Amino acid sequence: MKKEYETVIGLEVHVELATKTKIFCGCSTEFGAKPNTHTCPVCTGMPGSLPVLNKKVVEYVMSVGLAANCGINQFCKFDRKNYFYPDLPKAYQVSQLSLPIARNGAVPIKTGKTIRIHELHMEEDAGKLVHDPWLDQTRADYNRCGVPLIEIVTEPDFRSGEEVIAYLEKLRSTLQYLGVSDCKMQEGSLRCDVNLSVRPAGSQDLGTRTEMKNLNSFKAIARAIQGERERQIDLLEAGKEVIQETRR
Ligand code: ADP
Ligand code: MG
Ligand code: ZN
Repeated sequence: MKKEYETVIGLEVHVELATKTKIFCGCSTEFGAKPNTHTCPVCTGMPGSLPVLNKKVVEYVMSVGLAANCGINQFCKFDRKNYFYPDLPKAYQVSQLSLPIARNGAVPIKTGKTIRIHELHMEEDAGKLVHDPWLDQTRADYNRCGVPLIEIVTEPDFRSGEEVIAYLEKLRSTLQYLGVSDCKMQEGSLRCDVNLSVRPAGSQDLGTRTEMKNLNSFKAIARAIQGERERQIDLLEAGKEVIQETRR
């Protein structure tokens, strides 16, 4: 007989904040402007330029932390995440690695369950690469560099796609009510990374997870969960192992 499996899911949600200006400079955050018109030495990482933290970002992220029943850390700090990629002219992203602004929250969802929040931190968005298949070219738009983001990380508390969607709906309505983001998934202001593993029903140990990045609609999320759950179960049933990786 085929074994029963339980799906275990944790989410990392990125939300673009609706501030007028970027997180470390005065450039506009407006969506859809002419490419590379909202840039300056700070958000393009010119030598000698220095960041100044946008106070509104801190107010917004704290309101989200409180709404998600997190503890607010009196002391938090930023870290540099170094990586080279053409959408990141500074070659590092300013984020919060070890001391995030908020942690240990709890968000009740309509299924009756409460999802634990691991942490919530501030960071800056990267630019956008536009691939042009006609010209066989890739072009970089740095307007999005430095747009404020919050990342909300849950504990692996979800057991189904329905719970994930219920949480995202709750999160979206909370963020919209607070006025901190328009949460337009089609414009990328709310993006979701899904971490998923499966395990034999009744087991307490976590299985090996895979990550699916930047899903941008509820439908895509539901389909990704369904497909990945089946893929992992098939591997285990065939006596193979799940490899920890990011799947696109
Ligand atoms: P990383 O920093 O490497 O991305 P984290 O420990 O921060 O890893 O976890 C990222 C997300 O993955 C969190 O939402 C967490 O709940 C989830 N997660 C961790 N382990 C598992 C697992 N075995 N199965 C499903 N989700 C997991
Ligand atoms: Mg992570
Ligand atoms: Zn700027």
